[in-house]
Amino acid sequence: MKIAIFQTLGAILFASAVSAQSMPSALTRIVPERTEIGMSESGDPVIGIGLSRPLPWRLETSATPPTLTVEFNSLSGGDVADQITLAEPVEAVRQQQADNKTRVTFWLTAPMRVAQAGMQVDNPDQAAILSIRLVPDPDPESDAVAGQGMDAVTNHSGDAARLVVMLDPGHGGDDRGAQYGGIDEADLVLDFTRALRDRLARDTGFDVRLTRQEDGFVSLYERVSQAREADADVFISIHADSVLRGQARGASVYTLRRDGEDPLNSYLDGTRPRGDLITQLDLTGHTDDVATALLDLSQRTTSPRSKTLAHSLVGAMADEGVVLYKHPEKLANFVVLRAPDIPSVLVELGFLSNPADRALITDPDWQRRMIDALTKGLLLWLDGSDDTVMR
Ligand SMILES: [Zn+2]
Repeated sequence: MKIAIFQTLGAILFASAVSAQSMPSALTRIVPERTEIGMSESGDPVIGIGLSRPLPWRLETSATPPTLTVEFNSLSGGDVADQITLAEPVEAVRQQQADNKTRVTFWLTAPMRVAQAGMQVDNPDQAAILSIRLVPDPDPESDAVAGQGMDAVTNHSGDAARLVVMLDPGHGGDDRGAQYGGIDEADLVLDFTRALRDRLARDTGFDVRLTRQEDGFVSLYERVSQAREADADVFISIHADSVLRGQARGASVYTLRRDGEDPLNSYLDGTRPRGDLITQLDLTGHTDDVATALLDLSQRTTSPRSKTLAHSLVGAMADEGVVLYKHPEKLANFVVLRAPDIPSVLVELGFLSNPADRALITDPDWQRRMIDALTKGLLLWLDGSDDTVMR
């Protein structure tokens, strides 16, 4: 019997969650009334397994006999297989307990492979649903190779290329960014971004790159060009905020504001950015009318994805207890957010101009939590993106 085995993002998400909340998997049980076999909008079978809490999972498909097996770390609550309502293409469900693992096997009417799988966690009650979308596998022999499924699930696109994440540490060289309390934004964000890269590369296997590796000047346009040349799937710029007056504090995430968009909740919302951001705004003259028109067309599809990414990152920051700005999802016409075909966000870690924020941002424990949050936020966003909108 040949079996396609693949690990998914679920295990990675759990690895982060378990350190934060130390959830014993023995308390997790399948919730039969929230487990159902249904259909996606595109007509593919979708198996949704309701769980009382999130936990790591692993999927296997087999052609002979046609089955899908979901493996969890040991669950509590006993065998619930006969409480699950059957529907096409599932003929039977069987639950087995072995070696501290619980295996739930769905017997299928024909060989199928996993097109997409992901676990959604419902905050704050922590109930989870593992959704598995299946598609017919007309040629199961050639598909039954360990590892193929991993690429398909990780990329949500079915191609084998690794997801490319372009991280952009702000400023550098003569451009020091904000300077407060003996700290230069340029140095701070470079160190932070390197640590974020190491974490993402280690935990996700993504191809993670930086727009600048060291303390040198890289123009804003060059940063966007690098992302486009790398065919990046996502662009995340890292900065630290500052205000001339007042005691604004907290992290925030910017997405591109296009002309005509509601300027409320934007960079005009009370915090006045320092020179570096104003300089970026002044560069709008570099874009001619034709280029702007082309940009608008392609950004019509990218912009909502940038915003859902910003939303996911902010949500993960809140979960990690990161202090947020009063309106953490902001809009601005920053040059680095203008790659027309790449979901792009700019993360402000907090306000260097605020002594309390400054103490946090430079604290290794806080940095670890922020890196946890950005990693989880990115993974949840990828997990929640339907493959029809992914490139
Ligand atoms: Zn900056």
